[in-house]
Amino acid sequence: MIPYGKQDINQEDIDAVVQVLRSDFLTQGPVVPRFEEAVAERVGAKHAIAVNSATSALHIACAALDLGPGDWLWTSPITFVASANCGRYCGAKVDFVDIDPDTFNMCPDALEHKLAEAEKAGRLPKILVPVHMCGQSPDMARIAELTHRYDIRVIEDASHSIGAEYQNRPVGDCSYSDVTVFSFHPVKIITTGEGGLALTNDEVVATRMAELRTHGITRNPARMSREPDGPWYYEQRELGWNYRMTEIQAALGLSQFERLEDFVARRRELAGHYDDALTDLPLRIPGRLEGARSSWHL
Ligand SMILES: *Cc1c(COP(=O)(O)O)cnc(C)c1O
Repeated sequence: MIPYGKQDINQEDIDAVVQVLRSDFLTQGPVVPRFEEAVAERVGAKHAIAVNSATSALHIACAALDLGPGDWLWTSPITFVASANCGRYCGAKVDFVDIDPDTFNMCPDALEHKLAEAEKAGRLPKILVPVHMCGQSPDMARIAELTHRYDIRVIEDASHSIGAEYQNRPVGDCSYSDVTVFSFHPVKIITTGEGGLALTNDEVVATRMAELRTHGITRNPARMSREPDGPWYYEQRELGWNYRMTEIQAALGLSQFERLEDFVARRRELAGHYDDALTDLPLRIPGRLEGARSSWHL
């Protein structure tokens, strides 16, 4: 049987994990921040928040953007359940914008039409979650033009597309969104076992997501209600969750991330073989968006 997906673990990955197991910290140590910095730097985003899954990353992104009861979140109808569930966790209602049948991604024309209708009905969404289906970016420039017009916040569900490019820039730089999310589940491009990451260029959103992943707690005196009276003092500012990524996961992630280009190059090579082999058959090959380079998840 052809497997749906399989991770590629080499000796360096194993050594990196073993090194953490022998170290002082299994969680809340130095490797998670190193992983975050490496990804943020490579994709060109200011801040990265690593968590225990992309689902958690979507949840803290929605919460940090103030999604709540009475609000609407819109996403793509062809995606994994998590793209919609993050809205439900916050008590928001969920609706779907149809896709472009060529690329499988959210259709900007359908979005434009639906927004005009929603404006008339007085129920515009607070958050839009375009999905990078199969590793290719949606038409983010056109989507952002529309969301700016209506003052809607955007979370890119790029769970499939670390290593992809849009307009000659890496997916994840948040040029057209408030937050971009990657997944590191073993079927995705690189893995941490379970894991995810939220990227943003907005410092306020980054700080809030970092607190929400660890119970809503801060150790930063500037964010406390009173002078801390000792180094042990911390405050819980709001209700958060324990969504932390472990050091073990981050070590695997860093090691895998070093091979990202090789993984994506191999996927592109295989996609090229399919293009050649299928070209003379009466099939409709998935469409390529001008200026986008897929990382070919799926
Ligand atoms: C895999 C996936 C998720 C969830 O990722 P996890 O890391 O498993 O929580 C979310 N959205 C999409 C589109 C996915 O494919």
